[in-house]
Amino acid sequence: MVEQLELNLEDEAAALNAAWEQVLGELRPHVKAATFEAVLKGLRALSQAGDVLRIAAPHMLMKQMVERSHLPALAEAATVVFGRPLRIEVVVDKNAASRPAPASQGKTEETPPPPTDNLVTGSLPLNARYVFDEFVIGSSNRLAYAGAMAVAESPGGDYNPLFLYGGVGLGKTHLMQAIGHELRRTHPGKKVLYLSGESFTVQYVTALQQRRMEEFRRRTRGADVLLIDDIQFIADKESTEEEFFHTFNSLYQTDRQIVIASDRSPRDLHTSSDRMRSRFESGLMADIKGPDLETRMAILQKKALAESAAIPTDVLVYMAELIHSNIRVLEGALIKLLAYASISNQPITREMADQVLGHYFRQSSDAGPVDAETIIRKVGDYYGVQVAQIKGKRRDKALVTARQVAMHLVREMTSASLPEIGRVFGGKDHTTVIHACTKIKAGLKEDPQLGLAVRELMESFQQEE
Ligand code: ADP
Ligand code: MG
Repeated sequence: MVEQLELNLEDEAAALNAAWEQVLGELRPHVKAATFEAVLKGLRALSQAGDVLRIAAPHMLMKQMVERSHLPALAEAATVVFGRPLRIEVVVDKNAASRPAPASQGKTEETPPPPTDNLVTGSLPLNARYVFDEFVIGSSNRLAYAGAMAVAESPGGDYNPLFLYGGVGLGKTHLMQAIGHELRRTHPGKKVLYLSGESFTVQYVTALQQRRMEEFRRRTRGADVLLIDDIQFIADKESTEEEFFHTFNSLYQTDRQIVIASDRSPRDLHTSSDRMRSRFESGLMADIKGPDLETRMAILQKKALAESAAIPTDVLVYMAELIHSNIRVLEGALIKLLAYASISNQPITREMADQVLGHYFRQSSDAGPVDAETIIRKVGDYYGVQVAQIKGKRRDKALVTARQVAMHLVREMTSASLPEIGRVFGGKDHTTVIHACTKIKAGLKEDPQLGLAVRELMESFQQEE
């Protein structure tokens, strides 16, 4: 009797899941992929009774996001699927995220196959986190992602070589290793060799010294898939580059896949050989740009979710606005904030983020060093005052604000010392600089207008690369 009941309950749950998957299927084409991945995919149907469909979000943030943006569309899709008008209620269920995906997703959660190690000896290890599933897709990296997927699906096919390039911390290594992981899963017979430009160089030089060149070549030219990260390291070392060129050709001519990651385009590589450059350009070149705000937020959400942390939307926005051009730095900021919240045992708030992450202002200017004069000029433009006035001595209120903001920004964004800053500002004492910085720091906490000004100014530097 009890067994019977349980069975029915299970059937019911399965039917509900299947229907829910259909609802999501209806919605999928109408929302951004990242939104779908980051928000909707994490929802689960709990029950349907009367005209209410209750769904669970893995945490508050997602509930808010659904309620803010997706309720009408969800209700409409649910009405179609269930064949009756339905209202959607969202509740937070922390376990929702860790439940296995519903069976109706077309496949049941696959247990990953044991790592049949197809990495060639001498290969660098792969980071377990760098898989396709952990990668957030946005317009800045879509081409690179698609290229990497295509290569993982049919190595040595149409996209050979695949050349990924872009600035630091934008996901090149992640995508490259994701190819390695995926091949391990789907093509366990393929021999994968993953090396950085540096490790290629070291192994080559060692082989030369130890007269083991034959062995080195057997390994490098025997791979089915060669992944070379940070090729720029090789590009100015003549004999290593020559060796790499031969390796490349040997693989290329036998339709074996080559994937290259670089911090600059083939055109900008310091390579002596045009042959090499044109080889690099002959396959698929995909550049990864800095992620837009939405993608940065999606990345933060995904990482926060992985830590089962609830981070208020305003904090996510704040962080995503603060750190523009390097996802590694963004991740670091999140980890730092989570650690702080956990140690201090306080909920995460905007103020806490300000306090803990303020110094990222400095690092987030990784677009390149900004000099004091540029900052002063920009601040002058922003407040509509002259550079000479900022550097001068007059103490009208508007001037003082501009001057102090400029000092604060120079302090945060350059490595200038206090006395140096004083000098740049028309020979002021370093205590004046300290006073200005303290004043602005305090002001940032209570004066939203000031906060906005400082943020906008910061951003204007970051966009100028
Ligand atoms: P690069 O090789 O371009 O310097 P990485 O691949 O090392 O950058 O990426 C830096 C960090 O940012 C890694 O931890 C990576 O997982 C993360 N990351 C980069 N892009 C994304 C993305 N689109 N989604 C999720 N994480 C990302
Ligand atoms: Mg890298």
